Amino acid sequence: PSESAVRDFWQWLSDEGVANSSSSPPPVKPEFVPEGLGLVAQRDITKNEVVVEVPKKLWINPDTVAASDIGRVCGGLKPWVAISLFLLREKALGSASSWRPYLDILPLATDSPIFWSEEELSEIQGTQLLSTIMGVKEFVQSEFIKVEDDVILPNKDLFSSPITFNDFLWAFGILRSRAFPRLRGENLALIPLADLINHSSSITSEDSFWEIKGKGFFSRELIFSLRTPIYVKAGDQVYIQYDLAKSNAELALDYGFIESRQDREVYTLTLEITESDPFYGDKLDIAETNGLGETAYFDVILGSPLPPSMLPYLRLVALGGTDAFLLESIFRNSVWGHLELPVSRANEETICRVVRDACKSALSAYHTTIEEGLAYSFLET
Ligand code: SAM
Repeated sequence: PSESAVRDFWQWLSDEGVANSSSSPPPVKPEFVPEGLGLVAQRDITKNEVVVEVPKKLWINPDTVAASDIGRVCGGLKPWVAISLFLLREKALGSASSWRPYLDILPLATDSPIFWSEEELSEIQGTQLLSTIMGVKEFVQSEFIKVEDDVILPNKDLFSSPITFNDFLWAFGILRSRAFPRLRGENLALIPLADLINHSSSITSEDSFWEIKGKGFFSRELIFSLRTPIYVKAGDQVYIQYDLAKSNAELALDYGFIESRQDREVYTLTLEITESDPFYGDKLDIAETNGLGETAYFDVILGSPLPPSMLPYLRLVALGGTDAFLLESIFRNSVWGHLELPVSRANEETICRVVRDACKSALSAYHTTIEEGLAYSFLET
């Protein structure tokens, strides 16, 4: 966005009563920062002080879409699909849209791999992130084809400018990177201004820094209220912690950045009891009794112990031969306890082989070796 777009946005907010509401002058202002735009403190702000309050009339959520010109054709759509169409149509309307000041400050892309070129994506060949990205793009593509056939093409009067898959992907990326984590599904909403807050790894408190509340004692209008989790000096940026639980792959997909912290490095191992297993029924029963299923996903975190049920599940999957007696129903209540320790040498050897083979095959998709990768990252720094 340009300097003038940011000025217009700020003017729009102040016309709407946001920038000059309860506390004047406002504690923060949108400014250019290394992360794009951000919220910069205009004075010292104390911990937990409210920095931004945005009334519901400025949110873009399913109600906004329903009340708009395209509302009548968006009834059955998923909230994110409806909001995406709304954003794209308002964008196409240009200065005829009352949302223009907000739309004009939205980035054209983030660094999320969903926006990368083929060539850029080839750099992450072999990673789990790449397969996630391909899956996500296929999903967005299929949703696009559906909504194009069902809504866009049959309503040319409403959608006079064409909407492409890339436009739709942009809207998906905008929602993914800007919607506050608990505002998902039916509650999905874009909150202009509040959505300019950037993430900092140094904020580790998981306390909720925002809430939705009634505007005042006599008003039923809702406002979105955002607080700073820490004290901020005048001129510094206000930050929050987006999500402590997200892996680097999830951060990359959602926001287009990662953190160099071991516990963000996660590989999700998928294991399953195959139907061709001679003990399929018994194994499935045991897995289900212990809160797992036919397919189980285990997040292996760099530098952390393995997920507690991963080894027992692996031992169960590999169980056979003379160890199969453990599957008999008389052991049903105690078998998991047995699986928490090695069952037999043969079983333990099998799980080692299975995991080693899985690692080898996963690593073989990379086009460089670990040594080459390390040498390369050394050259880069
Ligand atoms: N900076 C955004 C803008 O210019 O509109 C406002 C925040 S928006 C909710 C989230 C996006 O901000 C992310 O997708 C990423 O592009 C950027 N961002 C936020 N925190 C960041 C960080 N710590 N490092 C790099 N980029 C960050």
